[in-house]
Amino acid sequence: MQTQILGLVTPLMALFFAVTFVVLWRVGRMKRHVLGFGIAYALSAVGFLITHLLPADAFYVFHMTQIFYSLASVVMLASVCERAGQRLHLGSFVAVYLISALTLAVAVSFSNDVGPRLIIVNMGYGVMFAMGVTTLLTARRRSVMDIAIIAVMAFQAVDFLVRPTLTLLFEQSIPAAVYRDSIYYSLIGLVLGVKGVTTAMVLIGAAIAEWTTALRESSERDALTGLQNRGSFEQSIRKLLPRAQTERRPLSLVVADIDHFKQVNDIWGHQAGDQAISGFGKLIRETVRGCDIAGRIGGEEFCIAVWNCETEPAHRLAERIRQTFVRLEHAGLSDDIRLTASFGVATARDRETYEQLFARADAALYRAKSKGRDRVENAEDRRQDAAASEPNPEPVELKRSAG
Ligand code: GH3
Ligand code: MG
Ligand code: MG
Repeated sequence: MQTQILGLVTPLMALFFAVTFVVLWRVGRMKRHVLGFGIAYALSAVGFLITHLLPADAFYVFHMTQIFYSLASVVMLASVCERAGQRLHLGSFVAVYLISALTLAVAVSFSNDVGPRLIIVNMGYGVMFAMGVTTLLTARRRSVMDIAIIAVMAFQAVDFLVRPTLTLLFEQSIPAAVYRDSIYYSLIGLVLGVKGVTTAMVLIGAAIAEWTTALRESSERDALTGLQNRGSFEQSIRKLLPRAQTERRPLSLVVADIDHFKQVNDIWGHQAGDQAISGFGKLIRETVRGCDIAGRIGGEEFCIAVWNCETEPAHRLAERIRQTFVRLEHAGLSDDIRLTASFGVATARDRETYEQLFARADAALYRAKSKGRDRVENAEDRRQDAAASEPNPEPVELKRSAG
């Protein structure tokens, strides 16, 4: 009776972990590999229950448990590989499963001894986990969590490949009828418990790490454009600027502002305005390089920190964005309406702070507005300063496309 009750600990624990993963996946809106971990634990819980509750000498019990354990192993390995951005070669898994199922069928029909069956099925799982570990090792990303996952999967492979043979050295024959009284059976309860808990702890740790990363990223992103929000942009440039100054690399700042945007909202509504902001953000995202930083710093105001870039090439970058933007059609606006944007460019000086750099780029933007908008102005272009006047306060007609 005591053994019966103790034997329920492992399946109940597996069920508990299955529920934990499903809750993490649902509540954290996490990727499907977390759901995969839950399904794998649920499948193994069913396998444990079958082994524990159904008659050990019934021929079908071994096959049934193997189906559940194999499915659990495949789902678990496919999920950890998907998490690492890799794909399992399912064909090889089916081949391993079929070979071990066939050999098992032969072993079951020829002998009532559980020993050979245990070696066959465990070898099968060992090979599956070894194949999973090989796939994981081909992934390029290698964080602490990735290494921990590879380690627990490798531990599973070694355990499956070594444990049955070692145990059976001490217990030459286990008749099916007394399987649950064997040393092997008590050992397996302990080993499965330890493996199940260790693996679950590592995977829960990995899921929580992914969750916090996703939360941090979403708190730093502007939802409308996918660019960094103001706080995150400023934090990034405050790190990048001193680095550029120390490494003696030019860093240029482009400040952009959509022209006459109030009119867009007034005429076509806030939603159409949002679409236009989103379109401008997408254009910036697609134009800048991975080493640049781009953010939406206000309603329809954007900033790009262009790494290792002098004023002239930064000016050309802004000019490219300006020319592309003016050709874009915007959903929700009349077909013939084209929006424009104005740009200010400044390149960081020695020991200049972000505030000073921004003020110079913003002054250039102000000049671009004063000179009629839809243009790029450089802070360095001092000759233009005298020409700068107050921005035109008159409501100006939005641009109509030539076509
Ligand atoms: P200018 O050419 O001088 O830049 O003229 P403007 O009309 O664009 O002037 P301003 O920058 O003062 O106006 C920006 C407007 O953008 C005001 C505000 O109603 C609108 N706005 C700010 N944030 C959002 C937003 O998230 N969505 C939408 N649709 N509109 C916004
Ligand atoms: Mg504006
Ligand atoms: Mg503005």
